Amino acid sequence: MIIVMKQNSTTSDISSVTEKLKLHDLSAHISEGVSQTIIGVIGDKSKINPSDFEVLTGVKEVVIVTDAHKLSNRVFHPENSVVKVQLKDKVIEIGGDKVQVMAGPCAIEDEDQIMKIAKGVSECGAEILRGGAYKPRTSPYDFQGLGLEGLKMMRKAADKYNLAVVTEVLDEKDIEEVATYADILQVGARNMYNYRLLSALGKIDKPILLKRGLSAELKEWIMASEYILSEGNKNVIYCERGVRTFEPATRNTFDINAIPYLKTETHLPVCADPSHGTGKRALVAPVARAAVAAGADVLMIETHYDPDNAKSDAMQTLSLEQFGDLMSELKGITSAIGRSI
Ligand code: PEP
Ligand code: MN
Repeated sequence: MIIVMKQNSTTSDISSVTEKLKLHDLSAHISEGVSQTIIGVIGDKSKINPSDFEVLTGVKEVVIVTDAHKLSNRVFHPENSVVKVQLKDKVIEIGGDKVQVMAGPCAIEDEDQIMKIAKGVSECGAEILRGGAYKPRTSPYDFQGLGLEGLKMMRKAADKYNLAVVTEVLDEKDIEEVATYADILQVGARNMYNYRLLSALGKIDKPILLKRGLSAELKEWIMASEYILSEGNKNVIYCERGVRTFEPATRNTFDINAIPYLKTETHLPVCADPSHGTGKRALVAPVARAAVAAGADVLMIETHYDPDNAKSDAMQTLSLEQFGDLMSELKGITSAIGRSI
């Protein structure tokens, strides 16, 4: 249920509504838009009568929403949410007019590697450095990442080039450590259903990049985000990274539909990861362009100065030169849709 307030409603009108909700053990999720305030009602509404609220001063209408997703729902929050990352001397906004770019290697390999890549991607215009320190590899015999040492190297490189850091947190017990070095914590595709990890991430205030599960339905993915949101962390960014289909020619099938679907159903920013979404270097730039045209707020692109010799995901990693070319091509697309990059 949502309660839409009149344009001229006062703060005391709003508190009368929330007080009345409290009497029924319901809580209010208040969204103050430019012209209108909307109150999302959370809890068991079976014992209340919507018309008891419709008569209150300042209330325009009461709308019954049957959708399972409450906090991510655009109905509750008609304007786009902008997730902010505060660096020392700048704020990076994800979900605003500017399309943001997360670029860097699949895995942090050593300090020299992450430094060179941070320099390269920042020169091309990216503002967020990606890199895995804890890697969820399919095989336990493959390189598993540098862990804490990798996080420290990445922070150092990001600070040197004024970049934000996004990196994966694999386990609940690592949250504090990863949050010490990262600006955005990534939940990988394999962990989208790890509800304890999601709830724990809901208790911190750093942005969470929630990747889509390997074969997750859009509704399941949205419900996974509710685990984070319902614990209080409102800074969720979805990341489409392709899903498993019957098609073996590409590593995954990038679901372009997911972008406008999420932008319609939810108010949260959407990231597109054509690197994991295709698994093929030649397909990364075309799918990245399509994703931006479809409304993606941020891109994640695996980039390395020597992609053929990258320790993981070499096949889908762009060279710094290819990444630079992609950034230039994206300028035309963003200006055609009234955005910038
Ligand atoms: C990654 O981005 O490093 C990664 C492992 O991706 P995914 O979880 O989408 O497979
Ligand atoms: Mn990878």
